[in-house]
Amino acid sequence: MSVLEIRNLHVNIEGKEILKGVNLSVPQGEVHAIMGPNGTGKSTLSYTLMGHPSYEVTDGEVWYKGHNILEMGPDERSRLGLFLAFQYPVSIPGVTLANFLRVALNARRKAINPEDKGMPIPEFRKLLREKLELLRMDSSFAGRYLNEGFSGGEKKRAEILQMATLQPEIAILDETDSGLDIDALRIVSDGVNALRGPEMGVLVITHYQRILNYVKPDVVHVMLDGRVVESGGPELALHLEEHGYDWVREKYEDSAVAS
Ligand code: ADP
Ligand code: MG
Repeated sequence: MSVLEIRNLHVNIEGKEILKGVNLSVPQGEVHAIMGPNGTGKSTLSYTLMGHPSYEVTDGEVWYKGHNILEMGPDERSRLGLFLAFQYPVSIPGVTLANFLRVALNARRKAINPEDKGMPIPEFRKLLREKLELLRMDSSFAGRYLNEGFSGGEKKRAEILQMATLQPEIAILDETDSGLDIDALRIVSDGVNALRGPEMGVLVITHYQRILNYVKPDVVHVMLDGRVVESGGPELALHLEEHGYDWVREKYEDSAVAS
């Protein structure tokens, strides 16, 4: 079983420290959520895990299968079995979603076995059909040009279909900046629920408490001021929904004073 392990991660944006020592493990087979008020560094964490060049790691490590993935490019991370949402370009005219998925899948197979000649097209078609059915997506969707004229909801569908096809061991989904409406939220939640299981771990980074009404996380983490300060079971999400974040802030500030 693979575990994504974030250790003491410090990240600067434009010289300002945003992540101040994040510690977190996400094992394959579990769904973890990171929640927290705006501006606490959730998106910074997801962009850093994706390998966005504007985010400067000043300390810490992110271990996965014996590699510090911070030293790897986004494509290498993906071939290792990590799925990072939004890693595909905004739109590629002339490339269908199905083609894109086949190229991505074959790259991953080749990384696992350099001798791999790629999945035969009939087998790929069958796989794609199964995944479209599982996600209750129309089969014509995969024939569309990648992201060309995709609505917000369709981009989410493409992302979830990509996750289903690549069958990652750990998937990291950041819902923070996409202005998800309730439909898109359902697409993501239904997708995660259809795919979750012992083979896949998921880290959902979100400021929408609502998503956790649809996806029941095994573990909920609260991020505050650039650190994970509280972790608990699904009941923690319900507690946050009812009571907000003030009590976490007070608890965290008290313990910061005491130490
Ligand atoms: P969250 O996703 O939890 O709302 P972010 O990671 O987006 O938080 O932001 C954390 C902090 O980093 C905020 O104070 C924000 O203003 C700052 N920040 C984020 N992106 C940039 C940027 N590109 N330049 C400067 N400051 C940034
Ligand atoms: Mg954000």
